[in-house]
Amino acid sequence: MPELPEVETVARQLAPRLAGRAVHSLRVLDPRLRAGRRVPAVGGRTVTSVRRSGKRVLIGFSPAVRASGGAASRPLVLAVHLRMTGRLIWYERFPEKPGHLRARFRLDEGELLFQDVRRFGTFDWYADEDEAAPRAIDPLDPGLTPAVLGELLAGSTQPLKQWLLRQDRLVGLGNIYASEILWVARLSPFAAAGSLGRGEVGRLHRAVRGVLGRAIEACGTTFSDFQDARGEEGSFGPRLAVYDRAERSCRRCRGTVERRVQQQRSTYWCPRCQG
Ligand SMILES: [Zn+2]
Repeated sequence: MPELPEVETVARQLAPRLAGRAVHSLRVLDPRLRAGRRVPAVGGRTVTSVRRSGKRVLIGFSPAVRASGGAASRPLVLAVHLRMTGRLIWYERFPEKPGHLRARFRLDEGELLFQDVRRFGTFDWYADEDEAAPRAIDPLDPGLTPAVLGELLAGSTQPLKQWLLRQDRLVGLGNIYASEILWVARLSPFAAAGSLGRGEVGRLHRAVRGVLGRAIEACGTTFSDFQDARGEEGSFGPRLAVYDRAERSCRRCRGTVERRVQQQRSTYWCPRCQG
């Protein structure tokens, strides 16, 4: 499932392709993507921005221009959540057999397709970016200092791994990177989130930034079927330290990586060096 680094990769790749492009039309082919709501008119608008927010790709559109020249509508923001298997891929030309096509944007140059095998991906429309912004803080937000992270953690009795996955404190982390971050920080996934000392919070903060930064450089991880905006797989997979490495040797201490289910999700950790 795409997490922050994968979504960041998609947004960074799409931005130079899409920004400034005029949209000829949008066809939403999957009724689930409409979710009972009217799809706003996007034809005649220009893409103004593409960026990541949490685990969603935000695509900004200018107001539509009337034939008479005046602006006829307000700006618009589309938030795309890829969920399990959603892919936003830019094509120079409409492909011959685009599999699992859910939505198609025809642009003045190229096509943006939303393809989604499992169909859990969602489209949400907003009047502007403020309305689309999550209430929680982004792990890469410069405002997330070690002190702020410490305040967020304070008082929580929840196990650290589960705390990292809740989306109402930090937004964007998922199961793969939560395990990786805790391994880098040498922290137990089962420790109470509010029990960390100042040094441990500092380690956690550095690990969050370090792991996400390295994963973004590698265009993310393809665990089952993530593809980026070019239709390619992420290359961070072989660099994962603990995720999906149960019974294998810890890359740091030669202990054995273990797997335990926490809230129906697999947690991977090294009991020897994450104490
Ligand atoms: Zn270890």
